[in-house]
Amino acid sequence: MGSKGLGPTNSLPEHPTNLLDFQRMFRDEEACLRYLEKLRWPEGFICDKCSAGGEPFRIVSRPRVLKCRSCLYESSTTSGTVMHRSKTSIHVWFWAAYLIATQTPGISALELQKRLGIARYETAFQLLHKLRAAMVRPDRDKIGAEWPLEMDVVFVGGKHKGGKQGETRQTPVIIAVEIRRQEKRNPSTSKVIERALAGRVRLQRLPNKVAGSIDRFAKQCVAPGAVIVSDDGSEFADLIAYGYAHKPITMRGDREKMDTHLPMVSRVTANLKTWIDGTFHGVRKHHLQAYLDEFTFRFNRRFYRSISFQRLLGLGTLRVGPTYRETYSVGISREKAART
Ligand SMILES: [Zn+2]
Repeated sequence: MGSKGLGPTNSLPEHPTNLLDFQRMFRDEEACLRYLEKLRWPEGFICDKCSAGGEPFRIVSRPRVLKCRSCLYESSTTSGTVMHRSKTSIHVWFWAAYLIATQTPGISALELQKRLGIARYETAFQLLHKLRAAMVRPDRDKIGAEWPLEMDVVFVGGKHKGGKQGETRQTPVIIAVEIRRQEKRNPSTSKVIERALAGRVRLQRLPNKVAGSIDRFAKQCVAPGAVIVSDDGSEFADLIAYGYAHKPITMRGDREKMDTHLPMVSRVTANLKTWIDGTFHGVRKHHLQAYLDEFTFRFNRRFYRSISFQRLLGLGTLRVGPTYRETYSVGISREKAART
């Protein structure tokens, strides 16, 4: 999965499976840098410029630099990862990546700042946002090729505090979930029962709830010809014309019907809202997509949490790692400390 330029996945170094493991493996800055080096060059260092192999020169005062013995070109251990050019220590980055990847609810910037003793709130905030940007693989798969999908538009966010009465900051978000089928044997009766479970999800903030927005999302995220179950709202009306096997069901906002016909979407929506309220106490509208991406990353890897840590160090995006700014096109340096 997304291991460009890294060689076969089986040559990757071991990853920590619990907190004690993590502490043992990453005692200090040097241990973290050596680990990154192994991730980038699993078969040993190779110069970026002249492709010569062999142990590089190391510079004590610049521990992130590896200097080629043949051409003296200086490679950086962190280039192409989310940590590139960061003034924050790699040890702190490793801790942040580990905490965000392995804690079930994730972590807020304020909590991260306290736990790791980071001096400025803004540093913790930017660190988390850069990690969030690393959670989206630019070339990620479209879903729906193997399994049917449930799709719905939900509204995320609450009412403005102190805003005009009735004014809301609710944002439409489209959710698509794979409906996977799993066969399970009942141990007492030996009968095989089939059950549905939520597979991968895709979530996107929409500018509005009209057909054009849904069509754009489908084109980006859903495999051609996918089977899509949704309500019969006019916003889904074009899906057939775009070649999807669309199955609209009349629900008219009836909660019970939604839970029956769109059970996966209902579950993902409930999880998303609980997570945003519980971990971040609400989210600003212009950051919403970053949190949706974190939710997606977390949900899609809920059974493979320990490997998420490696992924987050920038692995899948090595050499093409987008910055937060490139991913979301917003100026984070100008963010006032949004306490999210
Ligand atoms: Zn060289």
